[in-house]
Amino acid sequence: MEIKVLEKDHSNLRLLVKGIDVQFMNTLRRIVLSEVPCMAIDEVVVIENSSVLQDEFIAHRLGLIPLKTNLDDYNLPEECQCKSEFGCNLCRVTLTLDAEAKEETRTVYSGELVSENPDIVPVKDNIPIIKLAKGQKLKLEAYARLGKGKSHAKWQAVSLCTYKYFPKIEIIEKNCNNCGKCVEICPRKVLAKSNGKVEVRDLMACTLCQDCVEICPKEPSAIKVEWEENSFIFNLESTGALTPEKAMKDALDRLDSQLKKIEKQIR
Ligand code: SF4
Ligand code: SF4
Ligand SMILES: [Zn+2]
Repeated sequence: MEIKVLEKDHSNLRLLVKGIDVQFMNTLRRIVLSEVPCMAIDEVVVIENSSVLQDEFIAHRLGLIPLKTNLDDYNLPEECQCKSEFGCNLCRVTLTLDAEAKEETRTVYSGELVSENPDIVPVKDNIPIIKLAKGQKLKLEAYARLGKGKSHAKWQAVSLCTYKYFPKIEIIEKNCNNCGKCVEICPRKVLAKSNGKVEVRDLMACTLCQDCVEICPKEPSAIKVEWEENSFIFNLESTGALTPEKAMKDALDRLDSQLKKIEKQIR
């Protein structure tokens, strides 16, 4: 297998993976989406709520706020040695909120949640939770824990995890009359005209939609769009709970340990 990092920043990872089959890519995608844990608020004790929203509605909103996660310091509740339904310091984090609209209507944001662990906080401070009218209050205690995307989407550490075949585009010059129809129709601006000739400008952006092939007036088409059988472009976008590298590494570790379990059983 050959891997090349095409793009990497604090929330995105784009890889070119060569020499594997589609089943492996799909396994990796599914593990990233459903098995890599992250923190999310799972229980809320509402102490005071004089807003117009019901407690359940607010709890649901809180659950969907992505929290920065440190996988090394916390256990999944089902694997924690405390075996307690209330959790302990190794499997639960408490966040509190005490908000009031004293002067006028105001929005309460995620940045007002106070966490007992400064490492486990909302990924952004400006996620709206609720609007309070003058005189309204919201006071609560929320408990976050690790969970997996297969139980609830709030525990999905990534907002996007996809792969596509690596495209191959060929323009058959002797058939092409340079009419430019393929350039105009391409929704991803993959093709461009340069010095009167059609050329591939951004191969990676191609979605293999075949619109350019269908619009070509030549018979057979003067443009061919195919894909490389065992080469893929893999995209991962983190919610901010984990870095994209950490999400990927955790997925690979989990795949490795699943395979070792199978190996043990068939020995
Ligand atoms: S549509 Fe066909 S003939 Fe026209 S420029 Fe594109 S490849 Fe050439
Ligand atoms: S297959 Fe679709 S995305 Fe790719 S070059 Fe043709 S029109 Fe553009
Ligand atoms: Zn515990």
